[in-house]
Amino acid sequence: MREKIIHEYYNNTVTFPVKESFYSLQGEGHYSGIAAYFIRLGGCHIKCNWCDTKTSWKINKNDFLTVNQIIKNINSQAKIIVITGGEPTMWNLSPLTKILKKRGYRIHVETSGTYPIQEEFIDWITISPKKKSFH
Ligand code: SF4
Repeated sequence: MREKIIHEYYNNTVTFPVKESFYSLQGEGHYSGIAAYFIRLGGCHIKCNWCDTKTSWKINKNDFLTVNQIIKNINSQAKIIVITGGEPTMWNLSPLTKILKKRGYRIHVETSGTYPIQEEFIDWITISPKKKSFH
């Protein structure tokens, strides 16, 4: 397993690189058709040729938001938060998932399974292994 990358901090507050966040219906898997609020984090080292979110690969300095900013931006009544990417588990998600959990959200994470996952505050994990994940 790979080491997680180090968070950037802003005024001693942990931040995450958010490429986009939006309300939608889950389009695949067990929760297909269920309303959710998606938070797409930046960064992915796997770089599949067919990736449909290549814009998430590159992290820019101004992508970084504090946990409070991420939560403030949530503009839907959906009770499920899907943290996706990119590869969201390259980050230590606990500072974000802990607060989302306290606020009563159900938390889903979509990952290629490349990094260890802190499961403590996560309700559902969708793993979509990629051949290159394990090279
Ligand atoms: S693992 Fe996912 S985000 Fe990363 S390149 Fe492949 S499809 Fe894109």
